[in-house]
Amino acid sequence: MTSPQHHDLVVIGAGIAGATITNELLARGQAVCIVDSAPFPASACSSHAHAIAHPHIGRGAPRLLRLTRIAFLMAEARWGSIWNQHGIFQPAKKDRHFIRDEVNAHLRTLELDEAMAQALFAQEAKEICGVAQDGVWLPRGASLNLSEATNNALKPHPHLTCCWNTSIARLEKKGAAWQLLNHQNEISMTAGKVIIAAALETKTLAASMDVKLPLRPVRGQLSIFSIGENDAWASQLPRTAISGDGYCLPAKRLPEGGYEWIVGSSFDEGETDPHDWASSDDLNREQAKGLLNYVQGDISQLHGAGSFVGVRCVAGDRLPIVGALTQRPGIYLATALGSRGALWSALAAKLITAQVLEDDFALLARFGFAADLVAALAPARFFAGTLAAAPALGALASNSKPILPSAPNAK
Ligand SMILES: Cc1cc2nc3c(=O)[nH]c(=O)nc-3n(C[C@H](O)[C@H](O)[C@H](O)COP(=O)(O)OP(=O)(O)OC[C@H]3O[C@@H](n4cnc5c(N)ncnc54)[C@H](O)[C@@H]3O)c2cc1C
Repeated sequence: MTSPQHHDLVVIGAGIAGATITNELLARGQAVCIVDSAPFPASACSSHAHAIAHPHIGRGAPRLLRLTRIAFLMAEARWGSIWNQHGIFQPAKKDRHFIRDEVNAHLRTLELDEAMAQALFAQEAKEICGVAQDGVWLPRGASLNLSEATNNALKPHPHLTCCWNTSIARLEKKGAAWQLLNHQNEISMTAGKVIIAAALETKTLAASMDVKLPLRPVRGQLSIFSIGENDAWASQLPRTAISGDGYCLPAKRLPEGGYEWIVGSSFDEGETDPHDWASSDDLNREQAKGLLNYVQGDISQLHGAGSFVGVRCVAGDRLPIVGALTQRPGIYLATALGSRGALWSALAAKLITAQVLEDDFALLARFGFAADLVAALAPARFFAGTLAAAPALGALASNSKPILPSAPNAK
C-alpha cells in the first residue's frame, strides 16, 4: 500500500474563503493542496453570484467598523475586473432626524472620505441612485460574483493541487504532521499546516480535535423578480444597489423589455433547508417596498423569476473566525463569514497568510491591523483565559471553557 501524500499546506474547503487564502499563499510562492468534498469549487454558499460589499457605517461596534473598512479596501484591490462597482445607497433610518453635516462628520471619524461615503438629501439621492430618500451614498460599493471569484482564485497553477470529492471527517496529530482522515477512517493525506475553511463543517472538524466552536447556520434566500415595462414599480426601481433592511442590486433592463431585479434576503436562524420557500420570496417583496420606501407598491407585480438559497455560517458575535488555533499548533481557521463573504475572505487571505508564513506583524499593521483587531478575529476569543491577553499573532489558549457570546443578528 502506498503511503498518503504529504503536503506542507492543506486548505480544507473550496468556497470563497478557502480559495482566496489558497490564492494568496500561491502568490507568496507556497505550494498548496486544496481539498473539498464537492466535485468542483464554490458548490455551497459561495455559489452566490450577487454578493454586495461595502464598509459598515453604522454607529457602535467600533471594531466591526474598522475591520470592514480594511477588508473592503483589500477586497477592492483583490478582485480587479470582476469587482462590479455600481455604488451602494444606504437609506437613513426613518425614525431618526437626518442631519447631513452630522452624518458626514460621523463618516469622517470612520476614516471614510468623500470618495468613499457621503450623506445625501433625498433629492440628490434621487438624481444619483434613483431613490428619493435621505441616506449615505457609497460610490465605491460593489458586488461580486462569489462563484466566479472562487473559480478565478483556483485557476490552474504549477504549485496548486486540487483534491475534489474528498471529504475530511477528522484531524489527528501524528508526530510533527497532521493526518486528515476520511469517513472510512483512512488517511487521505498528511500536512504540516492545515487551514480549515469549511464553513459550518469547521465545527465538526474542530470538534475532532476537541475544540468547541460556537458556529450556527443561518439560511438565506435571495429573490429574482421580473417586473413588467408598464408596471408602476418600473418607475421606482433603483439605478444603484441599496443596503438597509435587506438589500437589492441595481435593476437590470432586459433586452426583451421589462426588468430583472434581485432583492434579498431572508435570515432564517438555525435553518439549513436548501429549498426555495415561497414565504422567503414574500418577505423579500416586503423588503423591496421598505428599501424603496414605496409603501403603496403592489407586491403582486413582483413576479418570482428565480432565487438563490444558501446557508451562512455565523459566530455569535457577528465577526468571522480567522486565525491560528493556537491550542492546536499548525491548525488555522477561516470561517463564520456570515453575510460578508466578499469582505472577510479578502481579509482572511492576508491575515492567515501572514500567520502561516510567520510574517512580521508590521506587515499586517501596514494594512491598518492593530493587535486588538487580530485578537477580535482570533479563535482564541471564545476560550476562557485568553481574552485579556489580546494576542498579536498568537497566544497560548486554554481550550477548557468556550465562552458563547450573546447572539445578535449576524447581518
Ligand atoms: C442569501 C445570502 C445572501 C448573502 N449575501 C451576501 C452579500 O451580499 N455579500 C457578501 O459578502 N456575502 C453574502 N452572503 C454570504 C456569503 O455567501 C458567504 O459568507 C460565503 O459564501 C461563505 O464562504 P465560505 O467559503 O466560508 O463557505 P462555503 O462557500 O460554504 O464553502 C465551504 C466549502 O467547504 C467544503 N467542505 C465542507 N465540509 C467539508 C469537509 N468535511 N471536507 C471537505 N470539504 C468540505 C464545502 O463543500 C464547501 O465547498 C450571503 C449568503 C446568503 C446565504
